[in-house]
Amino acid sequence: MRSLVYSTSRTSIIRMTKTNYIMPQDSLLYKALNVSIDLDHNGQNSWFSSVRHLCTILNLPADFVKLRKCKFTQLLNSSLRKSYLKLWEKNFKTVMEGKLRTYCKIKTSFGSEKYLHIINNFTLRRALAKLRIFTHRLKTETGRYLKLEVSKRLCNKCDLNKIEDEIHFLLECPSTSTDRQVLIDMINNNCNNFQYLNLSDNFFYHT
Ligand SMILES: [Zn+2]
Repeated sequence: MRSLVYSTSRTSIIRMTKTNYIMPQDSLLYKALNVSIDLDHNGQNSWFSSVRHLCTILNLPADFVKLRKCKFTQLLNSSLRKSYLKLWEKNFKTVMEGKLRTYCKIKTSFGSEKYLHIINNFTLRRALAKLRIFTHRLKTETGRYLKLEVSKRLCNKCDLNKIEDEIHFLLECPSTSTDRQVLIDMINNNCNNFQYLNLSDNFFYHT
């Protein structure tokens, strides 16, 4: 969130500079901008020096004020997207070892996921989203709130004595076998090799 605010404020400064440059030449804003540009060109630290520094960070040309509006917008958007993706990938690496470690394996690229557009039923869509990001009520998660050791977060819906995690719930637990079989039959009809997947790959296929 902080990076988003920071990015928005940087963009606003650059956009404002660009707007001031196309103001009438007798306007105070246009004159102030040109004084600032002159100071910068003469080696003095001015407001425009800071703007120029922002341009370097965003990989925008230093003479961006002279660019046509559509070209400028195109460059700015492309630059913001690149810098956001870089930040996204960096932050992703930090959560790979935390609660979202499984999600990191499911989510491999930035962007909206297909299931959000394919599943029209809101309840089903929300259920899948919760499973993907671990905001469910399975013991592996609720046990965390109770500070239970992972090995003690066992499923109480069956007698397999297994930890109630996403894989157990989705692929192993007898309590969900009827619904599971319907799903598996449906997948088998569309994917011949599904039956050869191991549990882990099977889970990623589902999610
Ligand atoms: Zn179970």
